[in-house]
Amino acid sequence: MTKNRELDVRGLMDALRVPWKDRGRNCSKGNVNICCPYCKDDYGYHLTVSEELGGLYYCYRRPNDHSGANPLNLVMRLGPNRKEAVRLLNHYQRGRTQLVAEAVKAPQQTALSKQWGFFEQITEQHPNYADYLRSRGFDHPVGLARRYDLRCAAAGKWAGRVLIPFSEGPELVAWTGRAIRKDAELKYYTNQNGHEGLVYLPRPARHTLFVAEGPLDALKGAAATEELPIATAALTGKQLNAERLGRLKRQAAEAQQIVLVLDADTRFAERSRMLAELKGAFLGRVVRSLALPAPFKDLGEMGLRDARNFLQGHAVVTLR
Ligand SMILES: [Zn+2]
Repeated sequence: MTKNRELDVRGLMDALRVPWKDRGRNCSKGNVNICCPYCKDDYGYHLTVSEELGGLYYCYRRPNDHSGANPLNLVMRLGPNRKEAVRLLNHYQRGRTQLVAEAVKAPQQTALSKQWGFFEQITEQHPNYADYLRSRGFDHPVGLARRYDLRCAAAGKWAGRVLIPFSEGPELVAWTGRAIRKDAELKYYTNQNGHEGLVYLPRPARHTLFVAEGPLDALKGAAATEELPIATAALTGKQLNAERLGRLKRQAAEAQQIVLVLDADTRFAERSRMLAELKGAFLGRVVRSLALPAPFKDLGEMGLRDARNFLQGHAVVTLR
């Protein structure tokens, strides 16, 4: 992999007297983490700033609200006025990158993110939704909802569902609603927003990427391994078409090991086919399939502790 650091984020943050870290929880190579200046109460370094992508930033707690491609907005949020922020950014740019233009505007809210903004984040004020998440093994649903931006609707066609956002980088591309009632006709109802082959990746890909089926499986994997170099994606089904593989590859650039964790009732032939397709898409990386321990039918069924032990135990690259 070529080292192409476009922005010296460490130097920039030092100049701004902003504490940063580049190892430990939520950190990954090529990124520097700071406490999110948009979150009012972040002491946990949840905002990651990319050195390689010229200062693109991303908040793990509220990725849809506190992320952006233009570091000018972030630097201004950290104190300096626009003129000083531009001067600092130009000073800490590296290599061939162009200078930051004076006139860059904040990225426009998309129609989709506006629509998403009408939903409410799930709290204890929404007991049906919080209880549903608890019943699915998420011990602290309110914190979970805040970190992964889970929402709900008071009325209308999205009511009665835990709404889960699908993002690619800082951009919201779609969402799905998981019915909280067992007898709901449709378990998942998805606003695809014209997209095919969606992939749900609640946290950016790390060293090991587990690939499960349902969004709640991926959410369980994410919540269970927050301090580990592990991410879990959901394919939202068993179809690995070209679009879905393409999305997975784009979002899994960091992953060295890809581990398929399908539901226990998956037929052998189907599992083999999906494994072969993943191997073809991720040539040169370790790709394998893993059976769930009995009696679990899917990853989402496991408690957080079981899921953590299970995933952590299989996250090491093994040479065969
Ligand atoms: Zn934030």
